[in-house]
Amino acid sequence: MNPTFIDTHAHLDGEEFKDDLPEVIRRAKEAGVSKVFLPAIDLSSVPAVLNVCRSYPGYAYPMIGLQPEEVRADWQEVLQQMKQLLDESRREPTNGCPFIAIGEVGLDFYWSREFESEQLLAFEQQVRWAVEYRLPLMIHCRKAQNELLHILRKYEQELPGGVFHCFTGNRQEAAELLRLEKFALGIGGVLTFKSSHLREDLPASVPLGRIVLETDSPYMAPVPHRGQRNESAFVALVLRQLAQSYGVTEAEVAAVTNATVSRLFPLSN
Ligand SMILES: [Zn+2]
Repeated sequence: MNPTFIDTHAHLDGEEFKDDLPEVIRRAKEAGVSKVFLPAIDLSSVPAVLNVCRSYPGYAYPMIGLQPEEVRADWQEVLQQMKQLLDESRREPTNGCPFIAIGEVGLDFYWSREFESEQLLAFEQQVRWAVEYRLPLMIHCRKAQNELLHILRKYEQELPGGVFHCFTGNRQEAAELLRLEKFALGIGGVLTFKSSHLREDLPASVPLGRIVLETDSPYMAPVPHRGQRNESAFVALVLRQLAQSYGVTEAEVAAVTNATVSRLFPLSN
């Protein structure tokens, strides 16, 4: 049997998929993708994410959080409403579709520091949700690793774990993140880019057991689809490159990354 594997980060609720989502899911299944995890990024994306997950129960799983680039002056009201949704999900697991992670959440100072202090406060509050609800964090971090680690370390003992999604850093940055022992790196299409140093840096500094696969669809499509719409089926190309970089079989990458996902995420099936 061909190995199956998991796309831990895909925005399949987006506009980009509104015309052909069933085809996208069919191609993902054919490529060997056994599950996809969908992060909400703001309040308005929650119903869209849940809608996809309810259409594909046992295949698409929702995550909830306020993405750092979406943090505005009204962040406290937004988080209050998100927390209500989390509470509801816990009371009656949203029609068999409970949230499996807090995310995507984090810090992003790449484009703007306009809401820097709001981002810091919103992130810390959502880190506390991860502790309270015993859910892993799906973390987005850009140009803010020191600030991010400063917050995470405060809750290190109590946190159930999480993923640093779309990791593209160097060996030293990988080592710093992985000092948080219950966390893994989310690796996607960037690994396949010609310019990427990840193909050498990951095997040199990151055990395979600390990696999970992702696409970040519709963004970050791997070679040979670079620049086009990404979709979950393409996570197979990330898996193939990881197998080459680590000098192991694709089946081994699938088995090891699946085990890491099972350790981190509360999946009932
Ligand atoms: Zn994302």
